[in-house]
Amino acid sequence: MVYVRCPEHFLFRYVLGIRRPPTKAQKHGFALHETFAYHFEQKKLDRKGVKARDAKDFFAGIFQSALEDYEIEMEQSRALLTKEYLAKERKSSIPNLLLTGARGIDVYYKELEPKIKPDLVETAFNFPAGKGLEMVGRIDLSDTSHVIHEMKTTRRTPSWQDINNDPQISIYQEAFLRLKGKPVRGISKDYIVFSKQDSRIVRFQVQRPAHNYATVLRAAHAILEAVKHNVFYCLHPAESWICSKEWCGYYKLHQELKKKGLAKFMLQYSRS
Ligand code: SF4
Repeated sequence: MVYVRCPEHFLFRYVLGIRRPPTKAQKHGFALHETFAYHFEQKKLDRKGVKARDAKDFFAGIFQSALEDYEIEMEQSRALLTKEYLAKERKSSIPNLLLTGARGIDVYYKELEPKIKPDLVETAFNFPAGKGLEMVGRIDLSDTSHVIHEMKTTRRTPSWQDINNDPQISIYQEAFLRLKGKPVRGISKDYIVFSKQDSRIVRFQVQRPAHNYATVLRAAHAILEAVKHNVFYCLHPAESWICSKEWCGYYKLHQELKKKGLAKFMLQYSRS
């Protein structure tokens, strides 16, 4: 999906191994994800899990330690960062993130948590997918009625397109079949949507993905071919907020690549 969204990003991250500078929002999403994983692991064992109050404490602790990593990673990425990126990060307030995280946990516990009896929690999968490709990943959560739940956090209102256009869910469907020996009954994308005043849940469920696994596999093989042939380009040649000094942690590299051209750029960064 990184390649689909931005082939240039794929080049920096996965071919040249240059880590993307972190954001506080990513660390926040990570801490929430860890919190729900912890809760559902517990719930699988004792059918109760942790109380909302304890989940919020757990979240705050994980978020704090993720912020320590954030500081180190920011230091390591300093050479890549534009002043606009740094200014945007400075504006991202930690007390606000803590507050939205706590609100997100409250709304999730109120609306979704009671409906989910966990089965697979953070379950890793790894299987061959032909032409030297391996499918490696993790199913965050499935319930005892064989529905996969993918929990997401967002600040914008999600739409049906987010589930219809997501090839990842076809991979989860295949992985579930291999792990459980049974077909999945449904796939649910459970969003916690943060806004200034409160948080809400938006949920999209489908019985099966819009794209079947064979189609997704064909696309993955095509991407692999493109990568082998050094096909990397900027997907946002026109003005776009994604491809900007403020939002893209690779913006400086992007400019350098544009100036030097792919051959020279690769020569320099493949060596370092
Ligand atoms: S600057 Fe644009 S093209 Fe380059 S990695 Fe970022 S989003 Fe992709």
